Amino acid sequence: SETVLEVRDLVKHFPIRRGILRRTVGVLKAVDGVSLELRRGETLGIVGESGCGKSTLARMLTAHERPTSGEVTVLGRSMRDLRGRELRRSRRHIQLIFQDPYGSLDPRMTVADAVREPYDVNPDLAARGERVRRVRELLEVVGLNPDHGDRYPHQLSGGQRQRVGIARALALRPDVLVCDEPVSALDVSVQAQIVNLLEQLREEFRLAYVFIAHDLGVVQHLADRVAVMYLGRVVETGSEADVYGAAAHPYTQALLSAAPQPDPALRGTRQEILLDGEPPSPVDPPSGCSFHPRCRKVADSCSRLPPPLEPGARPGHLVACHLADRPA
Ligand code: SF4
Ligand code: MG
Repeated sequence: SETVLEVRDLVKHFPIRRGILRRTVGVLKAVDGVSLELRRGETLGIVGESGCGKSTLARMLTAHERPTSGEVTVLGRSMRDLRGRELRRSRRHIQLIFQDPYGSLDPRMTVADAVREPYDVNPDLAARGERVRRVRELLEVVGLNPDHGDRYPHQLSGGQRQRVGIARALALRPDVLVCDEPVSALDVSVQAQIVNLLEQLREEFRLAYVFIAHDLGVVQHLADRVAVMYLGRVVETGSEADVYGAAAHPYTQALLSAAPQPDPALRGTRQEILLDGEPPSPVDPPSGCSFHPRCRKVADSCSRLPPPLEPGARPGHLVACHLADRPA
């Protein structure tokens, strides 16, 4: 099916400034050359530890942040040179669902006002007289009582607030939803409800998702394809089955072995590989393969040569590791 999102060589570097003169003393490489593609109705899961650049990537995909270089193309249209009205029009196709449902809603706005607000920016999507009905419909679609539109965020639970955030994102009839850790701030019992809702909406509206999480279980459940990020780069990507069933990158293997095994029958069958310490700083990342200081397979060349993301043993599977199996 149709490609709805294409990302080419996306980079975001933040200069680090110090002192009274704000001199640049370094560069934080938050995202350092990411390419992705997403088709209609498809879910791409993005996993990695905090600080690997997932949120910065999400903000660039949805034009909340301008890339340092590279390109985001939505429905065949590059967002790179768009400004003002044109940018607002294009970005309605790709909406962001935030991690923190507490911080992302204006506390002075009622639920109905929050869901209606996107129409102020894109007025041609719903005539003024139609908006009240539209808002009620959206609240219903996300499982909220349409009679509770006059409530304020502080009167809602975390799960209800996240539903408001989803209704807001849906108001503009997007093609792609970028979900940045949409359930990690919620109670475990509520997480499944929101994941189920997202799954149901995907079918109903043929949405494509970029689903970002550090929880590997949630991503496995939803994703058709998975990309694993480490220090601003994709180190492995492929089908859900390939990445979870036959991970080829030592970092992915370590992440998977550290994750709780949801199936009790399989518990204990994975050998646990420990990931030592925190990921290094993206300000001055390690030379060569940036994973080498934590890699249990590290070889001599690893600290010298950065491994490119190249085809692995299976079709559509890409791996950035010098020791990975390559196509026969
Ligand atoms: Fe480990 Fe070397 Fe592969 Fe990097 S390139 S993941 S250090 S084996
Ligand atoms: Mg984040």
